[in-house]
Order: sequence, then C-alpha cells, then structure tokens
Amino acid sequence: MPTLDEARRFQADCVVADLHAHPALKTEIVRRKFWERPSAHKEFAPTKLRTSLPSLDAGGINLLFSAVYVPEKKLRDDCWLVRPASWFTPGLARALKGAPFEVTCNMITGFEEAVAVANQRTDGRKAIVARSRAELETALADPARPMVVLHTVEGAHSLGGTLANLRTLFEQGVCMLTLAHFYPNGVSPPVAGVPRDHLIRKLGCFRWKPDLDATLPTLGESVVKAMLDWGMLIDLTHTTPPARRRIYEINQGRRPLVMSHVGSTRLFDDPMNASPTDIEAIVECQGLIGVIFMTDWLIGPHPTNADTLAQVVATIRALVDQGAEDCIALGSDFDGMTDPPDDLREPADIPRLTQALLESFTPEQVRKFIGGNALRALRAGWGR
Ligand SMILES: [Zn+2]
Repeated sequence: MPTLDEARRFQADCVVADLHAHPALKTEIVRRKFWERPSAHKEFAPTKLRTSLPSLDAGGINLLFSAVYVPEKKLRDDCWLVRPASWFTPGLARALKGAPFEVTCNMITGFEEAVAVANQRTDGRKAIVARSRAELETALADPARPMVVLHTVEGAHSLGGTLANLRTLFEQGVCMLTLAHFYPNGVSPPVAGVPRDHLIRKLGCFRWKPDLDATLPTLGESVVKAMLDWGMLIDLTHTTPPARRRIYEINQGRRPLVMSHVGSTRLFDDPMNASPTDIEAIVECQGLIGVIFMTDWLIGPHPTNADTLAQVVATIRALVDQGAEDCIALGSDFDGMTDPPDDLREPADIPRLTQALLESFTPEQVRKFIGGNALRALRAGWGR
C-alpha cells in the first residue's frame, strides 16, 4: 500500500476535482467563513463548513464544482424540521421566502465575495472563480496552481420557469445545472431525494412520493435543447429514469452528460443511482459519473458511516467492470447538509482515497478518476 505522503505526491501533478460540493450553502445560509477550517469531526454537524479553502488546499483539490442550492419552498410542508431551523437561521428564512432565481443569483455573488475574503486571509493557495472556458484555461495554466472554483446550480426551481433566467445564469458563469432536486419543478421530475428507510423519514420528514414514471415536460425539453446548444453541462442526478432516457435520446451522444453525485445500482438498486442503461448512455457521450461519498446512496441506509471509503472504491470497481473507466469522477456532496463518511470527513481526507485507489488500480486509472476525466468532459461540454 502506498503511504499517505506518496498519495499526496502523486496528486501533486494531477487535476483533483470534486464534481459536487456545497460550500455556498454554508457561507450564504449559515454564514460560515470560507477561510476558517473547523476541527475535523465525525458527528452529524449540518451547520459546520467542511469545504473550507484550507481543507480543500490540504486535500490537494484544484477543481471544485461549487453547487448553489436554494431550499425548495415545499420543504416547509414536507420536512417539519425546516420551520424551527429557519427561526434560528435568518439566511434559511430569507432563502425560503425569496424568489428562487433572485436567491440563486445572490448566493452566487455572495459566495464570490466569500472567496475574495478567503484569498486575503489565507497564506496558502488562493481560489479563482472561472466564469468561462477562457477563464478556466487561464487559471489552469497559472504556475501558482490556484484552486479553480466553478459555479453550478442544483435544481431547476432556480430558473423560476423561464429560459431567459437559464441564459442569465449561463452568462454569469454557471457551467452546469442539476435539472431535478427534491420536488417537481416544471423542468424535470425527481426521484426520492432521501433514501427509503432513512432515519429522517422515521422522524416524519420527506413523506412526499415521487412519480417514478414521470418523464420530461415541455419546458424540460426546451431547457435540455438550449443547454446542449449553448454548451452548459446537464446534470441528471435526482432526475427520474424515464426523463434520463428522454435526455439520452435528445442528446444522441453529442455532448457529455453528467450524473454528478450518485452510486451504482450494482451496489444499491435505487432509481437515484446509475443503472446499466445510464452507464451505457454516459459512456457513449463520454460524460461523467461522480461517485458520492455517502453510505446511504452507495450501499443503502446503514447504521454507521464507518467504511464508506471502501464503498467508494467498490463502486468505482463496479463502474470500471461496466466499461465506464473514462467516465468516473468524484462527487462528494460535502456540505450538502449530509452526514459524511467517518473515514472521508472533509476534502483534506481526499489523499486517503487516492491512497486506497492506488492500491487497487493503475496510476493512469487513478489519475482519470480523481479529476482527469472531469476536466476532459468539462472541456468537451462547456462552451461551444
Ligand atoms: Zn443532490
């Protein structure tokens, strides 16, 4: 087994990418400071920031897809915990009250300000927000190797129902949109956003039942066609299987399609996860499957998060066996109000995963999984 230092040295000349994390949720909703790294913690701590700039730097991440998620209004009825949480969290109350498109734009600019402040405060590596392909290439060529931050948006409720708002987000530098999230949004129907048998369901939350036979509505077809024309990455995570199949038909293998934070149905058969149909279509368009760092999605709801790192490796092994070697990426979902693995608590722990991957795969394969594939698909899918 290579040592942790060897894994860190290996990463030093690789692109290390996370396709899906939520620092903006923590900086904008619960006012955490992007430059401040809290002590590492195993316990469920939904208000603590894990994807801080110092932790990302320590983990050697250099390409961060930062997902802006505006809490959906239906959450107030479907998860009773949200109301009391909003009494103590003014940022959450504001986000639930405002128009989703405006809240989305404010979260994007607010996070850019948080990055600027962090850059003044840090002695380590700086972060650069890349809002276009040209800015991405300039940042990647910078000899100081800054951490490149890209904006993505999770849930098309952020569009407020118009293509004009989609265009505005694209022009602001949003490189990827996750079409669905917890509830129907007029663009894509969702699967259940919380796994069956999960503890939070036993507490009476997330009772709403998705229609797993629902496919893409008319607005969804227009959004998908516009994104393919403009060169905005389409993230299929949370979208129903029939809607995903419709998008594969529309795309015809033209642009790389993404599932940014999922598991494989081989290990946990759930409509959220990548099935053989998804894998075949994503391989055909040279897209991406970002492996999530959550036991609940990797092997199903489970009493502990103790062995998740091994489950991530097993999921990658399954995807390789299914022919998806050139599509594998990492999609942690850190700071998505989730309970991360005990053995992958924050970005600083990524070298531990690299170490385990180097034990099981060739260096060339690991280079692709930890970021090489993500950069290749980003270049093919973003912009004309
Ligand atoms: Zn998600």
